[in-house]
Amino acid sequence: MQDTAISIRQVAKRFGDFTALHEVSLDIRQGEFFTLLGPSGCGKTTLLRLLGGFEPASGGQIRLFGQEIERLPANRRPINTVFQQYALFPHMSIHENVQFGMRMLGIGRREREARASEMLQRVQLERFAQRRPGELSGGQQQRVALARALAPRPKVLLLDEPLSALDLKLRQAMRLELKQLQEDMAITFVFVTHDQEEALTLSDRIAVMSAGEIQQVGSPREIYEEPANRFVADFIGETNLLQVSVQQSGTDGWLHCQLANGGEAQPLRCPVAPGIRPGQSAWLSIRPERLSLSAPDATGAGLDGVIRQSIYMGTDTQYVVALADGQTLVARLQNGGEAPWNRGAAVRVGLDQQAARLLGA
Ligand code: ATP
Repeated sequence: MQDTAISIRQVAKRFGDFTALHEVSLDIRQGEFFTLLGPSGCGKTTLLRLLGGFEPASGGQIRLFGQEIERLPANRRPINTVFQQYALFPHMSIHENVQFGMRMLGIGRREREARASEMLQRVQLERFAQRRPGELSGGQQQRVALARALAPRPKVLLLDEPLSALDLKLRQAMRLELKQLQEDMAITFVFVTHDQEEALTLSDRIAVMSAGEIQQVGSPREIYEEPANRFVADFIGETNLLQVSVQQSGTDGWLHCQLANGGEAQPLRCPVAPGIRPGQSAWLSIRPERLSLSAPDATGAGLDGVIRQSIYMGTDTQYVVALADGQTLVARLQNGGEAPWNRGAAVRVGLDQQAARLLGA
């Protein structure tokens, strides 16, 4: 079991009579890349600001390596922050910018210079050391901001959407660099983003947030493959949500379900899910890539429907299927195999039952 770097217990934040965080509890492990993910306004920046000490909590407790930090001001916490706006000092050279945090900590000049050079080497900017920030590109400036935040070797680095000002290509390249840097330096990263793809590619674990509450904490795989509820299933990646009624627990260990308005060849078999019982209605969540298409006269289970739309996407094709009961599904099939399905074709949609999830209505 890894040590806990940050322990958050029932931390709440109110602004007047508006509650931005409702008693959030969370453990962040030492050395992990931990991401707070959620839509705009869900409270991720607020939680980050409480960790950084930029804002007092309205209740609860935050411990850093076992120590209560509530009364420790921001500049005395072994924590550094990188913001979306990198805010480099325009009149200082890149080398001086990177030294800045260490100067504030009273680290001697020789050590400061050595560490700044080392950090600039790590982010591959040593040849720009004597330039001013205005003479660098956006991506280079963001790397300087990272080097500046990491040079004092904080125990924890907070990152608030640090890549969102960069264009797509640069953002993708910077993701890899960021991940590499975090692994090499073994510093705990707490990263805020609303971009689920960014969260999935970077994180060891993710907390999915909505409306000031944590919906689920888990590895990218857990969050994607075993979403805890409808919000998480819908927010992370793409999913199909079908309204079903749960018929019975089969002797085969599966729950048997039917579409709300009927139309399946045979009852669908779904994995048992906590809190879901026969007689209830529920949502069946299934990812587009976990569906297959075959001719409707084929034997076996599945949902009958008609292809409404086919969208070629390079490596795969996305099919929109109108089901007999009036609901719609999206299936994504890899190109290069069988001949593509045409619009209007009648199909039977097969579900990878292991990958289906029943979620509370
Ligand atoms: P975004 O991705 O848009 O930055 P977020 O998830 O980081 O969103 P927060 O900035 O944490 O969201 O804000 C959470 C909620 O708290 C929002 O509804 C916001 O309007 C509110 N809020 C944040 N700061 C204050 C403040 N100083 N006074 C009043 N309300 C605030």
